[in-house]
Amino acid sequence: MGSALLTVLKRLARLGVLLAVTAGVVWGAWYVEFRLAPETIAAITTGEAAQRPIDLPVLMYHGVNSRESRAGDYVITPEALRQDLVWLKKNGYHTVVIQDLLDYVDHGTPLPEKPVMITFDDGYYNNYLNVFPLLEELEMKAVISIIVGETDKYTESGEVSENYTHMTWEEINEMMESGLVEFQNHSYNLHKVTGQGVRKGAGKNKGESTEAYQAAIREDISRAQARFSEMTGWTPTAFTYPFGAISEESYPVLEELGFRATLDVQGRVFRLTRDPACLQRIPRFNRPWGTTAQEILEKAAKG
Ligand SMILES: [Zn+2]
Repeated sequence: MGSALLTVLKRLARLGVLLAVTAGVVWGAWYVEFRLAPETIAAITTGEAAQRPIDLPVLMYHGVNSRESRAGDYVITPEALRQDLVWLKKNGYHTVVIQDLLDYVDHGTPLPEKPVMITFDDGYYNNYLNVFPLLEELEMKAVISIIVGETDKYTESGEVSENYTHMTWEEINEMMESGLVEFQNHSYNLHKVTGQGVRKGAGKNKGESTEAYQAAIREDISRAQARFSEMTGWTPTAFTYPFGAISEESYPVLEELGFRATLDVQGRVFRLTRDPACLQRIPRFNRPWGTTAQEILEKAAKG
């Protein structure tokens, strides 16, 4: 065989190998892109099935009052709450608190099957009266975000009303010691919406400078943190935005104050990952009077 012919054959052989490799790569990329679910790709690329996002519905309650006449968007009866909790328990849901999310993000500590988070905002005395006994009976956990200034006020005055007073530090300590309730920060005194010059929750006022805004919320929220650790020995890890009023300029302040998570109100399921950033503005479902946790979760599961 002539050497010229041999060279041509060698070149053809190399081209063949090149084409085969290219086809393989293209097919492989297509397979990964279109045939595998995103969760599977994440598991392959990280080598950890634990990287799959976990769907975690978070329910938001406020008052729980035995007078049905008080029921509304932010108040339900103890019977309605019992119905929710019993349904969750019977259907295999397990309650988790913010600390469980932090343990998962920081250390990969597994969450229980079908996790759900139950949250109560504002810290009403009626939560101590009507929610705490249910949690004890059913052995379920909850997160209560308190308005610290209101707790100071009613601890001092001693006034008690199922309709409007807030829980005292003594009641908070009792609930904390049970291990069933985790307390979080809902501001010292930013829980306001009306009036001239009054900011909405921890939101930013129109025309307010970044510096003035950050100084104002830093002062209020750090006061609440200091009071918490003074009265309970516990420092909250999450800030619950009053009324879901949010400015991105609050983020660095909350980070500087040591918060790891913030709670928001957008009616969708929270997707937990190992990325600490996912704990920013955890979405929640309000649970008003006239529906049930079952209805909310079943609707959410359908997307
Ligand atoms: Zn609130």
